Amino acid sequence: MKEIKLFIDGEFKTSSKTYVTTNPANGEAVATVYLPSDSDIDGAVDAAERAFHSHEWRSMDQNKRADLLEAISEKMKERRNELTELEIADSGSCVRKAKADIHNAASYFKVLAGQLRKFQFEVKDESASRAGFSQNYKIYEPVGVCAQIIPWNFPLVMAAWKIGPVIASGCTTVLKSAQETPVTAMILAEILKDVGLPNGVVNIITGGAHEGERLLSNSKVRKIAFTGSTQVGSKIMEKAGKNLQNLSLELGGKSANIILDDADLSMAVDGALYGFLYHSGQACTSGTRLFVEEKIYPEFKSALIKRIADVKVGVPTDPATGYGPVINQKQFERILNYIEITKTEGGKLLYGGERASEGELSKGFYIRPTLFEVTPDNTIFNEEIFGPVLAITPVKNEAEAIKLANKSIFGLAGAVWSKNPERAKRVAKQLETGMVWINEYHLLNPGMPFGGYKQSGIGREMGEEGLKSYLEVKHLWVSDCDERAKKPWFDAIF
Ligand code: NAD
Repeated sequence: MKEIKLFIDGEFKTSSKTYVTTNPANGEAVATVYLPSDSDIDGAVDAAERAFHSHEWRSMDQNKRADLLEAISEKMKERRNELTELEIADSGSCVRKAKADIHNAASYFKVLAGQLRKFQFEVKDESASRAGFSQNYKIYEPVGVCAQIIPWNFPLVMAAWKIGPVIASGCTTVLKSAQETPVTAMILAEILKDVGLPNGVVNIITGGAHEGERLLSNSKVRKIAFTGSTQVGSKIMEKAGKNLQNLSLELGGKSANIILDDADLSMAVDGALYGFLYHSGQACTSGTRLFVEEKIYPEFKSALIKRIADVKVGVPTDPATGYGPVINQKQFERILNYIEITKTEGGKLLYGGERASEGELSKGFYIRPTLFEVTPDNTIFNEEIFGPVLAITPVKNEAEAIKLANKSIFGLAGAVWSKNPERAKRVAKQLETGMVWINEYHLLNPGMPFGGYKQSGIGREMGEEGLKSYLEVKHLWVSDCDERAKKPWFDAIF
């Protein structure tokens, strides 16, 4: 069994309190985890603050920081088999998803290194500057000590998206992993130590709501970066108000997947299934509302029901498995409860709708992929379930699809399927979300911004926007005028 310690000021530390994490697929113990005390958390913030002000970190050239990011990427690749195995056991990720996660996390550090090498931390704005009067510069500087909090669904990827821009920008951080999945973030800590990241730049702690609140309430924290549910995000925003901390929120979603009547039908069927079944529906971008134009609805629906049976529900370690368990008992019961609510509300069950418990599956939290035909009044049309339940609604036309897609408090992602790129783009542009795919789903590009509209979040991760969210911008005004009489303020008080 793994032992997960706290990574504070470059050292791995134990504490007086521990708990044990379990594998969602079979209930077996995965790791003994040390929980930080309040003083451990405060100590981690102090270490981050010391590192932020240290000469070593403040004076480190951006190319040296990019070298560190590349070295982290390489070490992750070297340890990919171990990371994959641990991610499977810790989070119930299927082997194909876990492998992709490790690859994506490692690639992110590499792409970020490339962006950092090109990023200009000092830019003279020629349009704002005027010869003989002023030279005006934008100077980008790190925000400071960050508190970062991540969820359990993509443990290593989420840690990478948080730690990457901290190193790139010259900030420092205390990152809290999710209580359920602390293992791979601690391997990442070993890698950070291994590549020679200065002590205290990145500190990683474990814990749940109490530890998260303690961390972000520290007045030395200048930026909070949170990924998780909209409910917790809203509480965090209130707390951030006390110290007016800079805030990034990546929150929940209820994304619309729109199938237009000129779509490639079999591709769109597969895209609809991938959109909501990936990682057992536990992706924030999950396409959990499916809108299909009436003209093709009967044909699409029967193709979907037929094709869903081809997705193998199985144990995560089996390479043939396309669909595994959900994270824990609480989520398992929550999802089954949403299924019961939909049945009582008159939603038409088309497939699944129950626990999967044959053979090995009886040991874990498995729920059969579930299809419901619903109207916009149904609870599951509106609320994020974070599980493998698809709400399907036929629509008269493109306009109705857009209207219903936007009928949501969320605005994270969505997709449009059509063989006509102009038509698909017209629809995509009218969706109130931070990301729209055309004839695609879930794929992300680390060079492009990611984040939500409305209650799906504030700010962006990845891309130039992601890096800039860890930077303050200073306007530096250099006078280009040394004649007192020509200075506009000269007359003001003399
Ligand atoms: P959650 O909000 O319950 O927890 C997220 C993190 O916040 C965990 O580390 C948890 O320990 C911590 N936390 C909980 N209460 C806290 C509090 N009061 N103060 C400080 N920290 C607290 O979410 P979850 O169940 O872990 O993850 C699922 C949610 O995350 C879904 O809503 C999903 O859509 C969202 N998510 C969003 C994105 C995105 O990029 N938009 C990505 C992944 C997951």
